[in-house]
Amino acid sequence: MVENSELRKAGLKVTLPRVKILQMLDSAEQRHMSAEDVYKALMEAGEDVGLATVYRVLTQFEAAGLVARHNFDGGHAVFELADGEHHDHMVDVETREVVEFTCPAIEKRQKEIAEEHGFELIDHHLVLHVRKRKPV
Ligand SMILES: [Zn+2]
Repeated sequence: MVENSELRKAGLKVTLPRVKILQMLDSAEQRHMSAEDVYKALMEAGEDVGLATVYRVLTQFEAAGLVARHNFDGGHAVFELADGEHHDHMVDVETREVVEFTCPAIEKRQKEIAEEHGFELIDHHLVLHVRKRKPV
């Protein structure tokens, strides 16, 4: 099973809740999920994993580098598998929908700006807060 080797590679023991949660993050249509989203999806799939366990496992996954945590609107954390290339996000302030995007021009400009200030860019988090344009 892919999930088992992923867990071992991350230095985590293979346990049923960990496998179920990793599978859910991997297969869910929604790429950015809160702990509650994961919990509800598992319940709907007939899996008996408690919300406290989901929180604990997601925190372990984050520490192991398996998932990335985002706090798009302050308190509300969402998680996504840390399996892809760097990307930035926009969040619909009305629906909380999360859209991923990449822009080479923005990436380049951010490096330049850091350098202009005498720094080397290590990392960045860019979140656009957006709202659907109303037809005129
Ligand atoms: Zn993302």
